[in-house]
Amino acid sequence: MATPFFIDVVLPIPIQKAFTYSITQEEATFLKKGMRVAVSFGNNSIYTAIVLDIHQNAPILYEAKEIHQILDETPIVSEFQLQHWEWIADYYMCSLGEVFRAALPSALLLESETVLFKNQAFEDESLLDNEEFLIFEALQHQSQLTIHQVSDILGKKKVMPVINQLIHKSVIYLKEEIYEQYKPKLEKYVRLHSHYSNDSSLEKLLSELANAKKQHAAVLTFFQLNTSKKAIKSKDLEKKAGISSAVLKALVDKNIFEFYHLQIDRISFQGSSNSLKDLNEFQEKALSEIKESFREKDIVLLHGITSSGKTEVYSKLIDEQLQQGKQVLFLLPEIALTTQIITRLQQYFGNQISVFHSKYSMNERVEVWHNVMENKPKAQIILGARSAIFLPFSNLGLIVVDEEHETSYKQFDPAPRYNARDAAIVLAKMHQAKIVLGSATPSLESYFNATQHKYGFVKLNKRFGEVKMPKIELIDLKEKQRKKQLKGHFSDALLQNIQEALDQKEQVILFQNRRGFSPIVECTSCGFSPQCPNCDVSLTYHKFKHELRCHYCSYQRAMPNSCGACGSNTLDTKGFGTEQIELELKALFPDFVIGRMDLDTTRGKFGYQKIIGAFEAREIDILVGTQMLSKGLDFDNVSLVGILSADNMLNFPDFRAYERAYQMMVQVSGRSGRAQKQGNVAIQTYNPEHLILQQVATTNYEEMFHEQLQERSKFKYPPYFRLIKITLKHKDYTKVDLGINWLFQALQGVFGEHVLGPSAPSVSRIRNQHIKNLVIKIPPKQSLSATKKQVQKIRDTFEAVKDFRAIRFVIDVDSY
Ligand code: ADP
Ligand code: ZN
Ligand code: ZN
Repeated sequence: MATPFFIDVVLPIPIQKAFTYSITQEEATFLKKGMRVAVSFGNNSIYTAIVLDIHQNAPILYEAKEIHQILDETPIVSEFQLQHWEWIADYYMCSLGEVFRAALPSALLLESETVLFKNQAFEDESLLDNEEFLIFEALQHQSQLTIHQVSDILGKKKVMPVINQLIHKSVIYLKEEIYEQYKPKLEKYVRLHSHYSNDSSLEKLLSELANAKKQHAAVLTFFQLNTSKKAIKSKDLEKKAGISSAVLKALVDKNIFEFYHLQIDRISFQGSSNSLKDLNEFQEKALSEIKESFREKDIVLLHGITSSGKTEVYSKLIDEQLQQGKQVLFLLPEIALTTQIITRLQQYFGNQISVFHSKYSMNERVEVWHNVMENKPKAQIILGARSAIFLPFSNLGLIVVDEEHETSYKQFDPAPRYNARDAAIVLAKMHQAKIVLGSATPSLESYFNATQHKYGFVKLNKRFGEVKMPKIELIDLKEKQRKKQLKGHFSDALLQNIQEALDQKEQVILFQNRRGFSPIVECTSCGFSPQCPNCDVSLTYHKFKHELRCHYCSYQRAMPNSCGACGSNTLDTKGFGTEQIELELKALFPDFVIGRMDLDTTRGKFGYQKIIGAFEAREIDILVGTQMLSKGLDFDNVSLVGILSADNMLNFPDFRAYERAYQMMVQVSGRSGRAQKQGNVAIQTYNPEHLILQQVATTNYEEMFHEQLQERSKFKYPPYFRLIKITLKHKDYTKVDLGINWLFQALQGVFGEHVLGPSAPSVSRIRNQHIKNLVIKIPPKQSLSATKKQVQKIRDTFEAVKDFRAIRFVIDVDSY
């Protein structure tokens, strides 16, 4: 009897181990590590899995099932990636399957629960073969299909290839997909059917068509076009010959022509490559220092103040990598992505750039994936947000992490809860690539590592073109209130600043941070404010739609007329958000255009671009926004930045609150004053003596750093101690409470005083789930991996307790 063959695969599920399936000998010779296979798992669900190993050892504990089918001809995941994913799974304490799920674009991850929809814009049935047509037709009658249903329709189990084709041809899309714009992916071409390749039969053909005038014309025109030896688009032929598509179709039915399809590249940029700008002496110095550092170190922190021209320095480094035929990964915080930096880099590097972005359609993402894998010319530079670290790089030479301090590099939910900056450092190491972390306001962690000489350190502290740092003024709201110099949320000083800027035809940015966003409703008689029924928070008032909404679960209801507690109609809106500020401004400056940029106004693929574009084009005079405004934007006519209230940033109960407040305020301030003119920044606060505000006012990063570092050391926080946060969630409060106390005892037994908690977060119930936290602090000398093993062991014991099994257990390593 022949020896059996097996594969180990990883499934996109939160289970630690790999699973073994049986394959034939033939399959064993065909399959390679990194290819996808469809397998069934659990109660007959089908999943896409990745092959990790091919071997001949039967599993001991279960009988290996056969695979459904093979989905790839060549691996779509590389060894580098698997190695990197394993590091992520191990470091962030999740399963390899969870990393796999996060890493692959959803179109490469079909499973039986996947829901398919018809792309309404697709019409050209001639593109479809029989099986594809059946599905297409089924979707005319019902709005969605699951993969199980597709299997029923086709009367077979192995349907993944058909579905892949349908996705590829843009006939269907998956549920998660927000399709904003249909872009045909395949262009239809026409050629002569294969049995008409010699001249004699052609003549015969033309004479046969003598009576079908239009068909005759089509064939003749075809030959004219064909002399250029280029592929002929159906559309071009129709136009040139003056015929309809029905005529071509008739010729195809007669087996005279045939259609075929070529892929057109949907992600292409026009734009020629301009040459790089010459660096000024300071940039030149920074560049040579970075290169110098790279001789000894793989990681360099570039501390360059706002507007110092870091992008130009990166560009030089990128250019050198391209010369050597290497790939470059350029990471940006999610929010900055759709804005100017892409355009700037495209001007230099043109078609060598691909953008990888969660707002792009799944086909676009799949295309970038393949282009990177095949090391295509147009994927030499990848610009992306955090998930771009998962792409199949084979030849990486450099990673740039721009705005490295940004918290959006950290994924909060679901697992893997990774920090893309840190995972990028590991990725660079695997590829023996270099990595630059850049920021005007580095994270304490990175700056600390630089001072410890773990990273190279380079400073760029001159703004480009002699632009002065902005003049920063702190406005004391206590005093303004006492002297009755407040109008709504504006002090007379801020209003005067705004008026002056507008008089000079300059633009203004007003910043209201998101945490202070929520205007809540309160009854002035009894103090009651309407709560979300599912979460432990007050509802937020949205004036525009006159309704109340929950920002945690998107519950919404109409604004009530009277108080739900006492019945009086004395409900009043409190607090202030961007929307309210916008309204006040409209009343104060009726002759000017006010724009607003926040989550509500920037939905959709081009949301940011529209607002930013209008502001750049000076169609907006005053732009009000949340911290989105602080992200890498560069406007040349902004002379005033106002921060409406600095205080709620400072009063946040989090050990990083001061660091963040500093970063945010310095970053928004950096938007003021470009080119010829010094900008102004006005910060309103009830607490102008606050040290952080003093440090912002003088842009004294180092003082902030040293002071915060002392606090961190004193209270045992990063960068000295590492943190692992454990969160339990369940709809039954008592259960969570029992669970967290059990866990606390168990962890305390091992880690003693270094376990903090249990505590409830400031919003302690979300979507009807009660939440409790614990934090484990890990001292500098304590082994991280040993610690994690102990935590994992306690977790396993916890999950073996029958009462606790239903509780959701979330681990967050290096939590924020
Ligand atoms: P940062 O990212 O450090 O805040 P930028 O790279 O956005 O700074 O540069 C600020 C502005 O100065 C941009 O408008 C940029 O085009 C311009 N700039 C920077 N360096 C140069 C240079 N070497 N030559 C011409 N313009 C430059
Ligand atoms: Zn809610
Ligand atoms: Zn009341």
